[in-house]
Amino acid sequence: MPVLGRDVTVPLVTGGEVTYAALDYAASAPALQRVWDDVAAYAPYYGSVHRGAGYLSQLSTDLFESSRATVHAFLDCREDDQVVFTRSTTDSLNLLAGALPGGCEVFVFETEHHASLLPWTDARVTYLDAPRTPQQAVRALESALSGRDLGAPALVCVTGASNVTGELWPVRELAAVSHAHGARIVLDAAQLAPHHPVSVRKLGVDWVAFSGHKLYAPFGSGVLAGRADWLRDAEPYLAGGGASRKVSRRAGGGVDVEWHTTAARHEAGSPNVIGVYAIASACRALTEAGFDALVDRERHLVEKVLAGLAEVPGVRVLSLFGGGTPSASGGRTPARVGVVSFVVEGWNSSHLAAALSAEYGIGVRDGLFCAHPLVRTLLGGDPQQPGECGAPEGERGERGETGVRPAEGAGA
Ligand code: PLP
Repeated sequence: MPVLGRDVTVPLVTGGEVTYAALDYAASAPALQRVWDDVAAYAPYYGSVHRGAGYLSQLSTDLFESSRATVHAFLDCREDDQVVFTRSTTDSLNLLAGALPGGCEVFVFETEHHASLLPWTDARVTYLDAPRTPQQAVRALESALSGRDLGAPALVCVTGASNVTGELWPVRELAAVSHAHGARIVLDAAQLAPHHPVSVRKLGVDWVAFSGHKLYAPFGSGVLAGRADWLRDAEPYLAGGGASRKVSRRAGGGVDVEWHTTAARHEAGSPNVIGVYAIASACRALTEAGFDALVDRERHLVEKVLAGLAEVPGVRVLSLFGGGTPSASGGRTPARVGVVSFVVEGWNSSHLAAALSAEYGIGVRDGLFCAHPLVRTLLGGDPQQPGECGAPEGERGERGETGVRPAEGAGA
């Protein structure tokens, strides 16, 4: 499927230019050309969602709500599941963290992306040690959950595919164990959804979160989909118009608010209709392309990358589960998605990434991938590999500017 930016040329320090090779899709994937075209076709009809009777407003409302139905179908949700539009996976998981019922315990592996690791600060959190096989992960969760008070609510948060190793987690088994112990489970599908079909029903998870910018729809939008009850009983994520059904002055002072009980409860303010429409467009494109074909193609590419890296002296591919081959689990289910991280003996990873960009026009992600405990475990405390997540303070500009500017004529 064609993506934007395939023909972008970038300057090299050695002189001349080269066609850019974006190998950092695990940070953000470029938009599909088709998503861009869909958004461009809609742009002239842009209007306010849920806020007007004008034709363009009605059209935008319709696109927004039908995008919800598209995402619902894409995730194979249960009929009464809600799809809430957010800004990102991080936003989705923070929303859910704010909706936990009182006394809720949270269980999370220390290997999670920070988006899954950090939002649960108001709950009693059990951090599980890094498992070294998928079976160990299931056993560790089972033992952490056994003996807990079944009367108290509990939530397990787990990633579907690691953005660092690309390895798949045994989500279905973890969901079964969670439910057997009266806990619910939320799936961080930020890295899984672009590569693999995600079926809420088949996996048996209670919620799924993912981001548009990793699903070829880079417009600051995300999704939290799943059970309605905790979301309906929670305080609105943001208080404001759109989330409120009825507001009236209270006799004697103050205001009384009746909040929506649907997804709108957590979508206050004018929504990001372009971003939401882009996500729906990407969901349609992936569904039409067919995940079987995508998985096959990706398996072939990963095998090629791993075989190539195996020939380079000093390269070590990072793996938590000791996998390494995309077909390690046999059959049509790959043990990993198309994400490969590696270190090179004697090289600082930031310097290597900078050299790949400056000398070859290859863009890769370096650092600790917003999963510091996981990467430290994988590196075994290797002091050569520094890293940050987000803009490095002070190193470049005040807010991490790089000083790189688009070529003349590029962009607008
Ligand atoms: N979880 C995983 C596995 C990710 O790979 C990412 C982003 O890279 C996130 C969560 C966070 O996504 P976002 O930055 O869009 O909130």
